[in-house]
Amino acid sequence: MRETASHWKYPDGKLDSRLRGNDQGFERVRIPDETGAGFSHRKTYKLSSMTSCPSRFIAVVFDNWLLHTPRWIEVCLSQMGVFEMGVPTQTVKTAYDSAMENFDLAAEALDLSTNVRNMIKYPERILHVNLPVRMDSGHIQRFEGYRVQHSTARGPAKGGIRYHPGVTLDEVKALATWMTWKCAVVNIPFGGGKGGVTCNPKEMSLTELERLTRRYASAILPLIGPERDIPAPDVYTNSQIMAWIMDTYSMTKGYPIPGVVTGKPIALGGSLGRNEATGRGVYYTVQSAGEHLRVPIKGAKVVVQGFGNAGSIAAQLLDSNQAYVIAASDSRGCVYNANGLDIPKLIMHKEKTGGVVGMVNSETISPQELLALECDILIPAALENAIDATNAGAVKAKIVGEAANGPVTPEGDAILEKNGVFVIPDILCNAGGVTVSYFEWVQDEQHLFWEAQDVYNRLERVMKNSFAEVLKIRLDRKVSMRTAANMLGISRVAEATALRGLYP
Ligand code: NAD
Repeated sequence: MRETASHWKYPDGKLDSRLRGNDQGFERVRIPDETGAGFSHRKTYKLSSMTSCPSRFIAVVFDNWLLHTPRWIEVCLSQMGVFEMGVPTQTVKTAYDSAMENFDLAAEALDLSTNVRNMIKYPERILHVNLPVRMDSGHIQRFEGYRVQHSTARGPAKGGIRYHPGVTLDEVKALATWMTWKCAVVNIPFGGGKGGVTCNPKEMSLTELERLTRRYASAILPLIGPERDIPAPDVYTNSQIMAWIMDTYSMTKGYPIPGVVTGKPIALGGSLGRNEATGRGVYYTVQSAGEHLRVPIKGAKVVVQGFGNAGSIAAQLLDSNQAYVIAASDSRGCVYNANGLDIPKLIMHKEKTGGVVGMVNSETISPQELLALECDILIPAALENAIDATNAGAVKAKIVGEAANGPVTPEGDAILEKNGVFVIPDILCNAGGVTVSYFEWVQDEQHLFWEAQDVYNRLERVMKNSFAEVLKIRLDRKVSMRTAANMLGISRVAEATALRGLYP
């Protein structure tokens, strides 16, 4: 018998036991709430350790927990087709499934042999760490963390560290895989890596975050180093966290080693232009796509999903080049103004209030409405799987610039391609961040630092040349931009691997 929504009772973990029983869905769900009235922000609401649930959903749940009740989550679950009143109705693809699928598409197009595929497709090394951390209350809380090195064929592994409640090994593997192809697409001498800790930094004090970071840095210490694996910031990590990692690593070695991380504060060997590099790179590739499609930036209507580091800076550059950013969102909601939002004011508003909602001269719209807005350029800059089979058909943008990693699923991709939407794939579009990370590492190694304009000029050259190379493959081989970018990245890794040979 199929259960109905009204049978779902809160609190006391009933939802917990229901979902845990369904191994196609949540592995562990804990939603304690003594009042039954909804979420209380004093509690930890963990929907984590997912095995086969899309991280987009986890993000939606986590990021909206202040606004929505568990009833809303339940509705959302069934609307997404993950569960129909507690019964799993589909096996949901994970980010890693998407990464593997995209690899296969490009490998087919490149006619790569099985031998080469076996050498380059899978992560080289995976470290799963247990992180006991003393919290401010005195108790010790356990977190889990990961560091994955997908490839070191072309150089040291390179990739960010994510702090988020939805972090899973599967997600980190996917992100590490994308880093390998991304570094190869922009032709910088790095492989791919990624790290993450399953935690909710929004619920942690600064001192707790520091203790967690130092413990995580110690735990992954055997893998990292300027010649081995160089972390950087990602979602909910920043330059301060990089400074703590640099310090922990340096204290252990006995001398300062700034090149162990990038995205550091300038005072510790960070690079000018690193903070805005991803957004700036997004801007350069969107500009190139606009030139190719004859969609001028001036007067273009832009929608940004995820007004964080990457999204807000891309918005700022587009706005200062006379585009109209008509909508923007973050984890708390979406704002819209048909005549264009005042972006400098929106940035200040978000800094002051923590979110975009409540901005003057704006109306609130739903996340679904935001993705379906009539616009020229859509920039998904939040998390994975934002655009999938369920909503890709509603996208009306001419250009989708993937500032986020993996924001479009393979099914979503096929729909966008069929509808003539020009997608600038993540491994090209957001590669500005890792490109300037490379510049930072070079500066650290040489102890010689560059002017901001020098960084911007070099970045523009790298992004525009890479865009042109990917576009050429698309046009020559009649494949999507994503397959073209994967073909470029994968062929470079395959070449390096073949030249190095198989050891032993
Ligand atoms: P960030 O933490 O600065 O910003 C993320 C933003 O997304 C936040 O404003 C958050 O509120 C918002 N968000 C979260 N869930 C959302 C949801 N469901 N709907 C709408 N908004 C939501 O992180 P960032 O560094 O800007 O990273 C964003 C994306 O860009 C990630 O996919 C990341 O991997 C990718 N990326 C970042 C960099 C970089 O250098 N920062 C480089 C390459 C790729």
